[in-house]
Amino acid sequence: MNRRKRATQTHVYDTVVVGAGPTGIAALYRLAKYGVDAICIEQGDSPLASIVDYPEGLVLSSPADHYQLAGIPLDCRNGETPTREDVLFYYSRIINSFNLRILSAHRLVDVRYVRKIHAISCQTQNGLMTLRCRNLLFTSWFERKKLKFSIPRGSLVRITDRFSNAIQAAGKTVVIVGGGLSATEIATYLMMSGQSVTILLRSQQRSHHLNPDFIKLLNATHSRLILEVRKIEILRASIRATSAGEEHEIKCDLLIVRIGQTVSPLILKTLKKLTILNGEKLRALASLSTADNIQHHSRLAKTDVSAEAIANKWPDLFEAFTSGKKNVWIAGGILHIGSSAAGVMVSILTALISVDIMMNKVAPGKIARPLPLFLYENYKKLMKFDQQDVGDLRPLLVKSVTRSLVPLTGLETTFGVESALATQKKIKATRAHTLAEHLIELSTGSNTIAEVVTKLKGKFTSDQIVIEFYQLFYSDILTWLPANNRR
Ligand SMILES: Cc1cc2nc3c(=O)[nH]c(=O)nc-3n(C[C@H](O)[C@H](O)[C@H](O)COP(=O)(O)OP(=O)(O)OC[C@H]3O[C@@H](n4cnc5c(N)ncnc54)[C@H](O)[C@@H]3O)c2cc1C
Repeated sequence: MNRRKRATQTHVYDTVVVGAGPTGIAALYRLAKYGVDAICIEQGDSPLASIVDYPEGLVLSSPADHYQLAGIPLDCRNGETPTREDVLFYYSRIINSFNLRILSAHRLVDVRYVRKIHAISCQTQNGLMTLRCRNLLFTSWFERKKLKFSIPRGSLVRITDRFSNAIQAAGKTVVIVGGGLSATEIATYLMMSGQSVTILLRSQQRSHHLNPDFIKLLNATHSRLILEVRKIEILRASIRATSAGEEHEIKCDLLIVRIGQTVSPLILKTLKKLTILNGEKLRALASLSTADNIQHHSRLAKTDVSAEAIANKWPDLFEAFTSGKKNVWIAGGILHIGSSAAGVMVSILTALISVDIMMNKVAPGKIARPLPLFLYENYKKLMKFDQQDVGDLRPLLVKSVTRSLVPLTGLETTFGVESALATQKKIKATRAHTLAEHLIELSTGSNTIAEVVTKLKGKFTSDQIVIEFYQLFYSDILTWLPANNRR
């Protein structure tokens, strides 16, 4: 290691959060509420790096409210089907609105704990840098599994595990390796863009490959699945896949590899060094499968596997979650069995609880074992709104302005008026609701939600008002601005 290149900050943060996904940002948000001197380090080029990597326009399987922090509304075109872009936009606004501090392109590579201070080594563009803190909260767990290939000299096959837009593959012959949801999303997206793809699976088809629409797409684009692939070799302008003793030589310009995720060996090594987790837990985590995989591969039942059965196969990190040993805290996907359908919501919840335990605001005794089952069964009950923050937001009618708040002129103004009329018609047609009309009228960007509640008191209950506000936030009628005093 080049010592001259290491920069050490003398400042000692109270808390450093590792990973700026929804879980890390939730933790940072909660820490900011308590006035804690906290910062987050993120290895990607921006916060939400893992979501930036989803295919553009991807419709998430979770509704908008699963991605919300402490009830702050994720306003979008349709709350049932938020997109990658809606989520990225929302978190940008959260970071701005609550002045959250995030250092991107800072990858944690090592931690030393000396005299109650953590010295965190981060790999940055300018070499190694050391940050110091009293509390360290891990929210970064999963990384993509890699396949090692030997690539012959002069091979024209490009191999990648990153894919976000069909244009990357346009005009190319594409082979996708992987049978999980990510690989299938990419395949579907490419087939919908008119591309023919070959998908290589290690196993038999999974349920999503049997979806009739997926099969129609496969047929319509002359795409195909090759099952039980055991070996893949890269050739000059093609690949050779061996399945069930049969060899397939497939022309290939672009090989996209999406074979699932694994728990980061680097993070496990760091927790081992800090003696937070023992050998048994580390082994369980290293071999951890996702809840979806446990369900898929389980011999317990092919059709339905209960939460309890999955929880039994999941490592219980109760101790590490509640004890704060050496002032190390953990939150996120490693703690629970939320599948992709509710995963992020439970992960966000664990971040909020973890910070509350750290700040002595919640007694660890309130949390029961086994932790994965406790979280799975109680997350709805535990999820609380941050009344103060939600009340402070200033709702704004999305009518004559664009999302980027550029005033519309000329032709666009005409469009703006038309769309405002359409919006009003939509409200009248779908819910002839005087409350909605009141809220739209008062959503000028200067009243706060709390002020609107006060103004309409007597006519409607505050619960009615808040519920109606959320309906409008989830139908592209209202957006919100942060509290005036935060800017
Ligand atoms: C295509 C796709 C669709 C999905 N859809 C849904 C959905 O609809 N609903 C749902 O609940 N879940 C969904 N998921 C799962 C989803 O990724 C998680 O729910 C969500 O991102 C979890 O947030 P997180 O903050 O816990 O983890 P992440 O978003 O993975 O954040 C962890 C962060 O830590 C960073 N990091 C890792 N190692 C280090 C290090 N050493 N130093 C610094 N930073 C580090 C990573 O770059 C990352 O930004 C989907 C996943 C995929 C791939």
